[in-house]
Formats: sequence, C-alpha cells, structure tokens
Amino acid sequence: MTLIFSGNAFKYELEGVMKLFIPAQLFNHIYTDGTAKCSGDYAFIRRRISKKQALLYVYCSVDGKTARCAQRIPSDTKDFDNQCELILSRLLFKAMSKLSDTEAKWGIITGVRPVKRVNAMISQGKSKSEIYDILQSQYLVSPEKCDIAYMTAMTQEKIIKNLSDKTFSLYISIPFCPTRCSYCSFVSQSIESCGNLIPEYVDNLCREISYTASLVNGLGLVLDTVYFGGGTPTTLSAQQLATIMDVISSSFDMSKVREYTVEAGRPDTITAEKLATIKSKGCTRLSVNPQTLSDSVLEAIGRKHTTQQFFDSYRIAQKTGFDSVNTDIIAGLPTDTFDSFKNTVDGLIQLAPENITVHTLSIKRAARLNHSEEKQSVLKNAAGEMVEYASKRLLESGYRPYYLYRQKNMLENLENIGWAKPGFESLYNIYIMEEIQTIIALGAGGSTKLVDLKNGRLERVFNYKFPLEYNKHFDLMLEKKNEIGEFYAEKE
Ligand code: SF4
Repeated sequence: MTLIFSGNAFKYELEGVMKLFIPAQLFNHIYTDGTAKCSGDYAFIRRRISKKQALLYVYCSVDGKTARCAQRIPSDTKDFDNQCELILSRLLFKAMSKLSDTEAKWGIITGVRPVKRVNAMISQGKSKSEIYDILQSQYLVSPEKCDIAYMTAMTQEKIIKNLSDKTFSLYISIPFCPTRCSYCSFVSQSIESCGNLIPEYVDNLCREISYTASLVNGLGLVLDTVYFGGGTPTTLSAQQLATIMDVISSSFDMSKVREYTVEAGRPDTITAEKLATIKSKGCTRLSVNPQTLSDSVLEAIGRKHTTQQFFDSYRIAQKTGFDSVNTDIIAGLPTDTFDSFKNTVDGLIQLAPENITVHTLSIKRAARLNHSEEKQSVLKNAAGEMVEYASKRLLESGYRPYYLYRQKNMLENLENIGWAKPGFESLYNIYIMEEIQTIIALGAGGSTKLVDLKNGRLERVFNYKFPLEYNKHFDLMLEKKNEIGEFYAEKE
C-alpha cells in the first residue's frame, strides 16, 4: 500500500488512520507537490492551497475499487495546519469506510489514551452533550465508544480531583516469566533462558531501590502506590520477593501508601507461601490472570498452565485475604471463539473479583504470533463481538469502567478496559494511563515518568531494557536517576 502526500506531509496521523483499515502492514510513502503515478493499492492525500481557500481531497484505490472524498476550507482558518490534518483524516476515514468492512468505532482517534481527551474537555467545563458532539462530529467516534469513554472519565473524576502533586508511585519491574506467551512483546525473559540472571538482578534492584529512595526522600514527595509488574513477579521465590519488599519498606515512608499491587500474573507461579509472604509485607491488591478459561486456548498461546490451576490460585488468593483481586482476560486470542470467550467472561463474573480487565489482542511486531501462520486467522477473530459481550455483562453485574487504553495493532482497533466494582478502582492504573502522577520505575525495562501537571511537563528516564544489560551496566544506569532531582529542582 502506498500513501501519496501532495501539498502536505501529515504522515503520522494519516498512516494511523489507514492502519485502522489495513492493519499490520508496512506502507510506502511518496511526497509530491502535484500528482504521482502509482500502481497497486494506494491513497492519494492532497491539499491544494489558493489565496482564499484550500481544497482537501482524498482518493483511495484498493483491490480495484475506488472511493473519493473532498472538502474546502478558508485559507485563513484558525489553526490552519491542524485543521487540515484533522479534515484529511476524516476524509481518508470516510473514503476507506466505503471500501472496507472494518468498523472502526473509535473513528479517527488513533492515540493510546482517548479518555485523556475526555478528561481535558471536562476540565475545560464542557458538558456531556458538548463532549459527545465533539467526539462524534470531529473524531467520528461511535455512540457506544463515547459512552464507555465518558463513563470511564466519570469514574476517574473524583480520584483525579483529589490528587496532590506532591505524591508519586513506585513501579518495580520483575521481567521474568516461566515461559514466553506467543503474543508477548514485553521485555520479559523465560526462566529457561535467563533464570541464572535472577540472583544478581535481585541484588541490583535492591540497590536501585535504596539509591532512589535516598534521592526522593529529600524532595518532600509522598509515596502513594506501589506496583510490582513485569513479567511475572511471582516467578521469584518467596524469599526473593520478601527481600525486595523489605528494602522498599525500610527505604521509603510507607505510612501514606494507599495501594500496593503485586501482579502475580501466571497461576503456575502462585503458591500459598508466596501469597502469604507478599501479604505480610504490605501487598493489598493482587492480580491473577487466566487470560482465558479454555485449556485449549491456553495451550495454543503457550501459557503452560491450566484453567484448574487458575481456579486453585484464585482460591489461595481469596484465602490469603487481599483487599482487591484483579483478573485479566484477552479477547481475540488464537483459536478462541465467541462461545468460549463468553464462558470465560461468565466464569469470572461468577467468581466476582473486585477488578476484571478485558484486553483485546494486539499483534506486536516482536511477538512470536506476528511471525506465525496463525496470524491471518487471528485477524478474522470476533474480537469486537467479544468485547461488546464483556462490556454488557460487566455493566449488568455492577462493574464500571475505570481506565481504558489502546495499543498499536489491536484487533479491530479496539481497546483494553479495566472494570471495577465501585470503590475498588486501582489508583495506579489510572495514574499511569492518564499521566497525572510521577511514576518512578525501577528494574529492567522500567520507564520513569516525571509529571508536572501545573506547567504541563512530562519527562521520561529510561532504565536498560533487558536484565542482562541492566546487570552489566548497572552503575551507569544509576547515575541517570539523578535526573529525578533535576526535574523537581526546575519545578520549584
Ligand atoms: S505472562 Fe505476560 S509478560 Fe510473561 S510471557 Fe506471558 S504475556 Fe509476556
């Protein structure tokens, strides 16, 4: 597929729109001031500016079928370039909708955080009907996605409103898993290939925690939430988890911590001893993730655990007594069907965890799935129907959406939604998605986000990605932590 830009170079947004209809493909780009000859499938995206007005025009040719859309705007339109980009995005969306069966319900919103846009409109004082009008007429969002975005923003409102800019959260990365799932694109390493790195990794992580605490404690910041993610943190032994959690408690002031999550993730790593240990060390929220309640789908994605193991781990979690338990599932997994996904949703609702997170499969470049024969059949999965069913059943069962985000290459341009029983929304998940609080990330693959809402500043500090380089260049990486202090010095 070739994208031809004439009189404009709005590549990023327009290519994003095209990917809604033709996902997981590489595009060729041609830039010209006039027309260009092209064979095969292509989209011609033109802006021709004259003294008084600009003609915005899109012509698409796909599989021998063609569609065109055009609009004119005055040349003195306020914010001219951005308006042209927005209109061309809409024109391309409309032209491609004529040629494709794809229903892209988020319209031309291609970014990760659609709710952030809604929150911004709420803080500008816009009413619900004004927000719906903007989402539908400017961004072509479907009524049902407007509902879900608005509901999510409403759940977040009181949490965001009461948030002090003196608070921060801590993310601890444990990038190890028992085996690698076929759809995984995280930095996580399997125990088989990298288990020997763990002892040194735990030592270094503890050093990083102590060092960072010595920097942060002097800045007058208050620790609000802690989140252990990865990977699968419970891949570590009970003793290793206890060591890390002890270093956190002795390094930071824990008295104001409102939420402490450990993403146990894979049921095959969960034991009563590990859960009792993490609970005794302060964990209040646990994530146990079946992804599906179908054994054959689990096998197809390389999870190497069974549905029964999930139920057993869930019972141990219940017995251990956490304030909140989350379970993650994924719509659109290889070999999954609508009926078996429906069983998964119904089965989890029966268990009644405080949180249920419904992801949509996203086929990432680095994932094994992207290079396998299964990819084409996955693209035809009924992910849209699955997500719709989950939303309907969860709403009926008293859950509310509290955070929502999208990723590149998600099936049918869908989204991930965190659902919670009222009062059990995970603070950390809202902070990370809406970018409203500083999150200091420690461990391999950690990406610290420093947030200064008042002045609209957001800076990132990256750790080394893989455990091997994290261990190898540890001292060099530690020096970068000083950027946290520099950021807050500028804030003052
Ligand atoms: S459990 Fe999660 S992090 Fe680990 S391999 Fe599977 S998808 Fe990747």
